[in-house]
Amino acid sequence: MDQKTRDELLKLFQGKLNKAMRFYLETCSRCGVCTTACHVHESMPHVKYIAAYRAEIVRRIYKRYFKGQGKVWSSLGEAKELTEMALEELYEAAYSCTGCRRCMVYCPFGIDTQMIMSIAKLLLVGAHAEPEILSMLADMSIEKGKTLELFKEGFLQGIKNLEEEVVKKWKIEAGDTAIPVDVEGADLLYVALAGAHSIIPAAAIFNAAGENWTLSFFEAVNFGAFVGDPTKTKLILDRIVNEANRLKVKEVCICECGTAFRVMKQMSGKQPFKVTSITEVHARYIREGRIKLDKTKFQEPMTYHDPCQIARNAGVMDEPRYILQHLTNDFRDMTPDPRYNWCCGGGGGLVALGEETLDFRMKSAKVKVDQIKETGATIIATACENCHTQLSNLNDHYKMGAEVKFLSSMIADALV
Ligand code: SF4
Ligand code: SF4
Repeated sequence: MDQKTRDELLKLFQGKLNKAMRFYLETCSRCGVCTTACHVHESMPHVKYIAAYRAEIVRRIYKRYFKGQGKVWSSLGEAKELTEMALEELYEAAYSCTGCRRCMVYCPFGIDTQMIMSIAKLLLVGAHAEPEILSMLADMSIEKGKTLELFKEGFLQGIKNLEEEVVKKWKIEAGDTAIPVDVEGADLLYVALAGAHSIIPAAAIFNAAGENWTLSFFEAVNFGAFVGDPTKTKLILDRIVNEANRLKVKEVCICECGTAFRVMKQMSGKQPFKVTSITEVHARYIREGRIKLDKTKFQEPMTYHDPCQIARNAGVMDEPRYILQHLTNDFRDMTPDPRYNWCCGGGGGLVALGEETLDFRMKSAKVKVDQIKETGATIIATACENCHTQLSNLNDHYKMGAEVKFLSSMIADALV
C-alpha cells in the first residue's frame, strides 16, 4: 500500500473517532465474556470469531497511528501497520460479523463491536476493497433518487397490477384506490421493499384499518448501510426523508426490513414526522380495534424470530408479541428473551451477498437453528426480509420442516 493511500485511509479512520468510539477502542479488559455471546463463535468455535478478537484487529491499527506511543505498542506486538494484509484481516472480521450487537449486551463495558466493525468497513470502502456488488446496489438506489421522473411511469404501472390482486383478494370497494401513491397530505408514508410480498399484504392491512396512507416511490433497503459507506447511507436515506417532507406526512412507516428501519429511526434527525416499523403500526391497529384477526387461521405451533435491528437494536420487542397473542393460540417464544436472542446470521450485508456467503451463513447460525428447534414450532414468523431469507435457507439446509413467514402476510391473511 502506498503512503498516499494509507494517509487517506487513516483520515477516514480519524473521522470515526468520536468519544464513544475512542471509549470502545480503549476500554476492552480482555475478560472474554463476549466469547460465548457471538453466534458465529458459538456455532464455529474459532478464535477469529470472538467479538474482542475482531475488534482487536481495528484496535491495533488505532494504537499504531492514533495513540501517542504507537512505536511502544508495536514493540509489545499490540500495534499493527495498515497494509494490504491488514485490509484482508479487516475484511474477514467485518464480513463475518452481522452487526447483531449480542456481544454488546453481554460486555460489562457495553463495547459495541458492530460500531468498531464500521471502521473496518469504511477502510475497505476507502481502499475499494469492499464487496463490489453492495456498492453497486447502493449506487443504483442513489441514481433512482436523482432520476425519479424516468421510472415513475413504470412504477405506477407495476402498482396498478398489484392493485388488482389486493382488490380481488380483500374485496375492496370498486372505485377505491387500493394502493395510493404520491398522495400529498396523507397521514402515513409506507416505504416498502421492491416486490409484491412487501406491498400487497401491507396495502390490505392499511385499507382494512382505514388508514390515510400513501406508498413511497422508493424502496426501503439501504445498501449503503450494509457496505458501511456513511455518505451513500445518507443519500439513500435522504430520498425518503425528502419525499416524506414533500408529501407532508405525519408518519413514515418502514416495511419489514430491520436495517432500513434502524437507519431511518436513528439517522433521519429531527423531522416533522415520526418513524415507525410496520410491526408497531400493526400492533397499534389491533390495540385501537381498527383491525381484527381470526385466531383460528394458523393452527400450527408458531414462534417468532426477533430481527436484531428491530428488537435488540431499536427496542421493538413487545409489539410483535402483542400481535401474536391475537394471531395464534399456540405461540412459543424462544429462550433466551429478545434482548439476548440469537442472531439468525443473515445481517450485515451477508444475505445480500447471496451464494457467496451461503456456506458461512449456514455454519455460523447453528445455534439459531437449535434455538428454534427447542420451541417445537413449525411456523417461524419474522419481520425482516434479510432474516426471512436467512431463516428460509436454514430451514432448507437443516431440513427443519418448518414454514418461514412474514408477520405482515399472516396478519393480512387472518384479517376478519
Ligand atoms: S466482553 Fe467486552 S471487555 Fe470483555 S473481552 Fe469482550 S469486548 Fe472486551
Ligand atoms: S455484533 Fe454480533 S456478529 Fe458481530 S461480533 Fe458481536 S455478536 Fe458477533
